[in-house]
Amino acid sequence: MGTMLRALVWDLDPGSAATVLREVRAAATLVDSLMSNYRPDSDVSRVNRSAGNGEWIAVAPGTFEVLTASIEYARTSSGAFDPTVGPLVDVWGFYRERGNVPAASALDSARALVGWRLIEIDAARRRVRLPRAGMRLDFGAIAKGYAVDLALEAARAAGAGRAMIDLGGNIGVLGPAPEGSAWPLGLSHPRDPEAPFAVVHVERGALATSGDYERFFLHDGVRYAHLLDPRTGWPVQGVASVAVLAPTGIASDALSTMLFVLGPDRGCDAIDGMRGVAAVWVLAPAEADEGGPLRAIVGGDPGVVVEVAPAVMRSACGSVSGR
Ligand code: AMP
Ligand code: MG
Repeated sequence: MGTMLRALVWDLDPGSAATVLREVRAAATLVDSLMSNYRPDSDVSRVNRSAGNGEWIAVAPGTFEVLTASIEYARTSSGAFDPTVGPLVDVWGFYRERGNVPAASALDSARALVGWRLIEIDAARRRVRLPRAGMRLDFGAIAKGYAVDLALEAARAAGAGRAMIDLGGNIGVLGPAPEGSAWPLGLSHPRDPEAPFAVVHVERGALATSGDYERFFLHDGVRYAHLLDPRTGWPVQGVASVAVLAPTGIASDALSTMLFVLGPDRGCDAIDGMRGVAAVWVLAPAEADEGGPLRAIVGGDPGVVVEVAPAVMRSACGSVSGR
């Protein structure tokens, strides 16, 4: 999945800690082998290669689970989250690490290949089919969170009582923190990754962050990042990052991407009433004002404690300044 896995396990016995770490790595490796875009033999690559040729592709239970969850997020967000966004990611150059603003015709062709409603599913036999040549699934917004869930499950099954797993910024916790019950997890400042600007106190679940600083390019002074609005075909503007705490890794990962695309206005409505879900949006500073104060909007479950550095202009979902 093109990222780093970091796992911390607390155990009095180094031998059993090592066993837990091995199981954690195996779980993450399994998800990578099924859902990576970069492995030609993954389920996702096999489905994509067969797009348009009429063939049904059988996939592993885990892949099917992530696909059906993705379709649910697409439905609830009216397509702001869309697992078929691949052709757009490609045309903007984000698979190649070298971004470019596409020609209008290329953008139109890519847009015609995006649409979660086109995905064909045979649930009884766990098979998938993409009807148009050039369509492609992309689980980049959700698979890492799912892998965190599997890894934590594996850790628990191997006897771990306390663990923390960080897969490319998707952080899941198991058990109480070493000091006190909540894990204080820092959020990165989107323009200065070394400087945490907020802390979320996590009792359980997982925290994911989507950011315009992870994969992006600048063109004529405008930042174009890898989070795309499937309805327009263009990278989302105005939001720098969204961090989401949710009961599971898969939910936090999918929601972070979905809420990035929805933005704070519609995003606040989307998470209203979701138990155990909290979100922190950071608005993108004007490129001329990179050093200015950050504006953060905090919403969701009021039981989640989010501390924000004094220099940050904070508002709440529903407050006038935040809407
Ligand atoms: P994340 O860092 O979890 O927000 O995932 C970002 C990745 O998800 C991108 O690099 C794309 O591969 C993919 N992606 C971009 N836009 C969307 C979208 N609107 N819906 C679903 N996946 C997306
Ligand atoms: Mg995500």
